Amino acid sequence: MNERADVIVIGGGIVGTTTAFFLRRRKRSVIVLERGLTGQQASGVNFGGVRRQGRALSQLAMSNRALQTWKRSRELLGEDVEFLPSGHTRVCYHAHDAEYFQRYADEARAHGLDLEVLEGRAMFERFPFLGREVLAASVSPLDGHANPRLAAPAFGRAAARLGARIVENTEVVHIEKEAGGFRVESAAGDIYRAEQVLVCAGAWANTLSTQLGEPVPLVARGPQMAVTEPVPYVFQHSMGVYTTVKAESVYFRQIPRGNLVLGGGPPGPADIATRRAGVLPENTVAQMAQFRRMVPALGPLHVIRVWSGVESYLPDSEPVIGPSTKADGLFYAFGFSGSGFQIGPGVGETLAELLDTGATPIPLDSFSIQRFQRGASAHAESATSETSS
Ligand SMILES: Cc1cc2nc3c(=O)[nH]c(=O)nc-3n(C[C@H](O)[C@H](O)[C@H](O)COP(=O)(O)OP(=O)(O)OC[C@H]3O[C@@H](n4cnc5c(N)ncnc54)[C@H](O)[C@@H]3O)c2cc1C
Repeated sequence: MNERADVIVIGGGIVGTTTAFFLRRRKRSVIVLERGLTGQQASGVNFGGVRRQGRALSQLAMSNRALQTWKRSRELLGEDVEFLPSGHTRVCYHAHDAEYFQRYADEARAHGLDLEVLEGRAMFERFPFLGREVLAASVSPLDGHANPRLAAPAFGRAAARLGARIVENTEVVHIEKEAGGFRVESAAGDIYRAEQVLVCAGAWANTLSTQLGEPVPLVARGPQMAVTEPVPYVFQHSMGVYTTVKAESVYFRQIPRGNLVLGGGPPGPADIATRRAGVLPENTVAQMAQFRRMVPALGPLHVIRVWSGVESYLPDSEPVIGPSTKADGLFYAFGFSGSGFQIGPGVGETLAELLDTGATPIPLDSFSIQRFQRGASAHAESATSETSS
């Protein structure tokens, strides 16, 4: 088989499917090559947090853009991905974290994110169920959650309805620059050609970027998830603990059916060869202890299932988004470090704009792959203390 399009997108997660969707709205021809099924990896098994607060300020422009798509998702996709803009609240236990909430709220306002910081009585009046160790709460009323199992496949189907070629069960094994563009070869020996290529292959992106002379210190890890038995639906806000002590972090959301989905704490192992990420029982036990600390009334709930997913992490916890520094027409988007679901549609829209017009008003400098070519030492592991969801 020999096929050609304006753009080849490698990877059918939330980033690849939304990029294809927005490229088709710009009438660019696009082929998405996905090794398994769309949304089968991190994009389909994540916590479902559609959360802007807590992100680096440099992500907020794209994150705000993403929120506009989440809000219009039913209309844009013609199906429901269960996006509930019911609010997201972070709480903390330490005075320095409470001070940080206020500082972050002041800075985020200039980037289009309005937060309300509550303490003491006002906080307990709003959230009477919080444990008495909680010192402050930062409320983002327009954030929320969505169903990850539905989102990327729905964007893929919508892109296909607009004319995108979504090719599943097709692994890319080789990318090569040639006159006029790129030659992309699948494991089955099929050849695809395009003027532009986007590598958005999640935890597997380094294998491809290395072929193109741009290795990155990407590692795979598995955020630890659990879901409880269903109980009456009372928690509309998605909530989480912000802390610089990773072991204290926990976050949860309740779905209208009644189950509480929760995550947090240190991620577990993930293996890019087997494409599996496991849950360590001790992590679930620790998560439940922190869950009870945040909302003591939830203590008696039973966990009915645990899972994880293969997520790509970069040492500075920020993604790579933007053009290659080695080959014209080549673009990257990966390394979302536990936070790529919410921002995915904003990344997709921004990349579609960049690929189509050569420019975007969204600043991408801090996401350049070039930062890893200046020497790995500048990117010592930063503590990923943020509630990732
Ligand atoms: C358990 C868990 C909880 C999380 N919670 C949240 C959350 O609440 N909120 C949030 O914002 N983020 C969250 N994240 C992070 C978020 O899910 C990811 O950052 C995001 O989904 C990444 O999307 P992606 O499209 O870059 O990658 P992926 O979804 O991993 O998609 C990459 C795709 O590329 C394909 N691929 C790889 N190599 C090849 C190849 N050679 N050829 C063809 N295809 C290839 C893979 O099969 C895969 O489908 C969580 C992640 C996990 C795992």
